[in-house]
Amino acid sequence: MQSAKIVTSGLVLRETETKEADKILTVLTPDLGKIALIARGARRRSSRIAAASQLLAYSELTVYKKGNWYMLDEASTRELFDGVRQDFACLSLASYFVELTEAVSGEGEESQQLLSLILNALYALGTLKKDPLQVKTAFELRLLALCGFEPLCDGCAVCGAEQPEAPVFDVVHGVVCCRECREEGGLAMPLSLGALAALQHILYCPPKKLYSFALDTPQLRLLGQAAEAFVATQLERSFRTLDFYKSILLPQE
Ligand SMILES: [Zn+2]
Repeated sequence: MQSAKIVTSGLVLRETETKEADKILTVLTPDLGKIALIARGARRRSSRIAAASQLLAYSELTVYKKGNWYMLDEASTRELFDGVRQDFACLSLASYFVELTEAVSGEGEESQQLLSLILNALYALGTLKKDPLQVKTAFELRLLALCGFEPLCDGCAVCGAEQPEAPVFDVVHGVVCCRECREEGGLAMPLSLGALAALQHILYCPPKKLYSFALDTPQLRLLGQAAEAFVATQLERSFRTLDFYKSILLPQE
């Protein structure tokens, strides 16, 4: 028996081709969380759900449940992020964003903030053409904060100094402190006062202001390295898509 239809919206984090002309999609929705969705006939050119069944498509979706699966019934595409798709480096970075999002989301979890975060990141990359390193750094830090890994960074976590002396970000303990105050067993990534101010902006600003901070390239690189180390340390894994993105950037550096 077919269960009741549910109308939601969702971003495709992964597409897998299956038998005949079908696809299995991994979709992040605000209310159902991350779901596995079967899109029947989505690989046929004439299919009404073809556009919505691609990686990075954000659409209004009508779904119903059949056993353990959600089935896609109807879809109306809202945003395809063409600006991201048309630029190979952008698309590679976006692939890391979706892999990271997939890693921290789960079925049945309320995911409105996470969905907004990744939609805004894709918009900042593809439409606003923001500096990819700025978008990546802010996205990683804010995403970790959303999933319960928010670092303590409103001063030195050890001596309490508001302006830590030569600040470092200890990505193991998830705290900022002075270089001299750092504790054993941590991994202290150097920051500057400007990078620390940007870190505080990223963690505490309203979501819409996430990318409105300015940092020169050397300081942005410091914060970027700290953010990347923070992700790898806290989530205890690496990301294939991140390794790939970095491999295509290397020749330009
Ligand atoms: Zn201190």
